[in-house]
Amino acid sequence: MNHGVLLIGATIALALVTLMFSIYLFRKHRKSRGLFLIAVIFFLEFVYAMAYALELAATDLTTKLIFNHLQYFAIPFFAVMWLYVVKVFKDPNFVPKPKWLIVFFAIPVLATICVQIFPYLNRTIYYTDAFIDYAHTADNLGLAVMVLKKGPLYYITGIYTSLILMMVSVICFRLYRAKKGIQSTEALWIGILTILCILAIIPAQFTDYTSGIDMALYIFEIIGFVMFYMMMRYETIDLKPAAHRSLFEASSDPILILDDAYDIISWNEAFDHFKDKEVKYRINIDDYFDNLDFCEAIKSEHAYGFTRAGRHFILETVPLIVASRRRTGYIVKFNDMTSYIDRIHVLDFQATHDVLTTIFNRRAFMECCENYLNKVVQPKEPFAFIMMDIDNFKVVNDTHGHIVGDGVLEYLSLLIKQNIDENIMFARYGGEEFMILLENTDENDAIQLAERIRIIVDEQHFIIDELHLHIQISIGIANGIGGSGLNLHQYIDKADEALYQSKKAGKNQVTSIN
Ligand code: GH3
Ligand code: MG
Ligand code: MG
Repeated sequence: MNHGVLLIGATIALALVTLMFSIYLFRKHRKSRGLFLIAVIFFLEFVYAMAYALELAATDLTTKLIFNHLQYFAIPFFAVMWLYVVKVFKDPNFVPKPKWLIVFFAIPVLATICVQIFPYLNRTIYYTDAFIDYAHTADNLGLAVMVLKKGPLYYITGIYTSLILMMVSVICFRLYRAKKGIQSTEALWIGILTILCILAIIPAQFTDYTSGIDMALYIFEIIGFVMFYMMMRYETIDLKPAAHRSLFEASSDPILILDDAYDIISWNEAFDHFKDKEVKYRINIDDYFDNLDFCEAIKSEHAYGFTRAGRHFILETVPLIVASRRRTGYIVKFNDMTSYIDRIHVLDFQATHDVLTTIFNRRAFMECCENYLNKVVQPKEPFAFIMMDIDNFKVVNDTHGHIVGDGVLEYLSLLIKQNIDENIMFARYGGEEFMILLENTDENDAIQLAERIRIIVDEQHFIIDELHLHIQISIGIANGIGGSGLNLHQYIDKADEALYQSKKAGKNQVTSIN
């Protein structure tokens, strides 16, 4: 087996992988400057690796030199580009000043120009001699390697590269010491790998000739990949995909992904449980959903609330827009709002209902009456407020205790509720006082209803904790008419006055006043 050929093949493969990586990063991350710079570095590594593989493969000195010169479009720029990347890593908003760009790129550009031009002008400044080392082919995997005699610019570039890399490692170690967020561990590793790079470069500064196979290429390539991994680990390898995965796959809300023609491209596990019909790849939403409101809501990108199997959902459509501002598709999310809506219902109930009797409380009653008097009632429309109070309730409490008293209140409210229309506003107004609002009802009908309630209560056996109680109530009615100019409190005072008269006249009776 010819190991030399193997090395050339492997180097070409490495170059192609690096090129693919570079193209991928250019395409995928045009918006992120950090990744754009890394794409540039990978492209430089491609140029370096490919040209070096061809240099190794060439058999005559001229061809080897041509490919060697090609490598110098990449080699001098690695360190400066790396410094640039690390500065962006440290501060994503970093933008180098033009004068510093000129200063930092001066030596790399000079090295590239000198390598390209000077040998042909017979003035060699980067290297002073070149020949093929046939004597050591056995040491070099059977390959005839080209050897260069180093000129002054070679050393200058080497030292310059080392200095830049030292700056990189200092920045990294400072970032590590600052212990700022998730970058800190990565900064430490990038710093250590940069030091390894420097250690690989420095020995070359103490020899007159290059020797053997250029190991720096392979060290650079490996370190480049490791550094990229370190730098992008959280952002592109760990964090972002994990976030996307959990937002989509692990979401408890059903999610659909549609293309720009509203064909279903993907759906998450929650949607598998949500659907009631087999979903197929590339089926159009018009063919999939029986509910046309869904399709309309998706296409108009409006939120749409609905209830399914006792659960409340809000459908939400988010367009997916690429850099060119063209819509490439949509995310349709069925936000399960059940727990919120159930909670709102509980809070709403608690705010408007009495804890003991579960009928409406005073606040709900007042709100309903205000609304009726201010917005609903028509001029000349008759209505009535009925106020009820248990007779001698103190005696019940004093004789049987408060618990039994509470039982009476519960029993009474249930009894009344069962005997009036369910749309009538009936509330616990105070301790043992209850009120009814009769909308659009004249005095006769109000008296009739009040009498009916009084008799039902009077005739009912209240059975509480095995006690049989006889309960009676007194009732006061305030009759009103739309446009009378009286406010709610005045009507309630009138009902209270009527109730007082019932009590005064001997209790267990109805009094109606206008
Ligand atoms: P009257 O016929 O004049 O109305 O006599 P009464 O004994 O009912 O007198 P009053 O209306 O002044 O007394 C109301 C009583 O109702 C006093 C209070 O202890 C009792 N009470 C108020 N709220 C509650 C309650 O939530 N539970 C119980 N058990 N008793 C209550
Ligand atoms: Mg009372
Ligand atoms: Mg009472």
